[in-house]
Amino acid sequence: MGLTIYLNGKFVPEEEAVISVFDHGLLYGDGVFEGIRAYHNRVFRLGEHLQRLYQSAKSIMLTIPLSPEKMQEVILETLRRNNLRDAYIRLVITRGIGDLGLDPSKCSEPAVFCITSSIQLYPEELYAKGLEVITVPTPRNYNEAVNPRIKSLNYLNNILAKIEANLAGTMEAIMLNPQGYVAEATGDNIFMIKGGVLLTPPSYANILEGITRNAVIELAGRRGLEVKEELFTRHDLYNADQVFLTGTAAELIPVIKIDGRVIGSGKPEPLFHELLSDFRELTRTGGPLIFPEEARGEEGDPDAQ
Ligand code: PMP
Repeated sequence: MGLTIYLNGKFVPEEEAVISVFDHGLLYGDGVFEGIRAYHNRVFRLGEHLQRLYQSAKSIMLTIPLSPEKMQEVILETLRRNNLRDAYIRLVITRGIGDLGLDPSKCSEPAVFCITSSIQLYPEELYAKGLEVITVPTPRNYNEAVNPRIKSLNYLNNILAKIEANLAGTMEAIMLNPQGYVAEATGDNIFMIKGGVLLTPPSYANILEGITRNAVIELAGRRGLEVKEELFTRHDLYNADQVFLTGTAAELIPVIKIDGRVIGSGKPEPLFHELLSDFRELTRTGGPLIFPEEARGEEGDPDAQ
């Protein structure tokens, strides 16, 4: 059965969910988006995703025609119409239809669409074995050009890095920032553990500030781990005890080889698995319910006394 898509105020079958060839999202990558997940009948950290979306839009001077409250309702209703409780959600706002020049002031109104579907993940064995990655020549965008904190529709910077990884026979790339410090992967943030300390690049280090990243920082703190948001180099990564990537789709995925160097023991250690299970536990709590009537009596049930 085909999906039901939200598009500009209507719920339509996927065949009818079409965008104009004059939409500047397509012509120029002019727009913003979010990748969100639902777990066990709840949308994980939806408030944070919406905040990032509205902040990205503000930064590119795109006025989203719906309030965050209405946008939340759109997402929940799209999930309901597709009968989904565990899902990947793609929410996109484009600049809308304009002419063939790039001037956004000539665009009529932004297009808004929401796709909800089942999740495509890395194979489960990679969570046990870990990924092999390389660092690539293409640096992450300059903050002063397109700030990577804007989750924009223009992903060419990351796509070039992905192509470089693929050419080298690896599935993922680690991107450095223009100063040569480690930034992030093409669609994930990066962490390393060294001597019991958890390190990740700070938000100004040419990265997208990931929602999963922030959750992992919180969880590590709860475990009593020291967490540092600090710049580090490839040399630091090669000599880390553990490295892993974080993102909405991947959750936490271990990295066991970088540029041919084996990381730590070459396999994910117990601390990684503990953080991954803490994260999976966290996805069960909080976040708005999709089908509230199915949660009667559960913790967080809106009707519970
Ligand atoms: N960095 C980039 C470039 C990304 O595209 C993503 C995921 N969309 C992330 C990091 C991870 O962010 P999140 O945890 O919010 O999915």
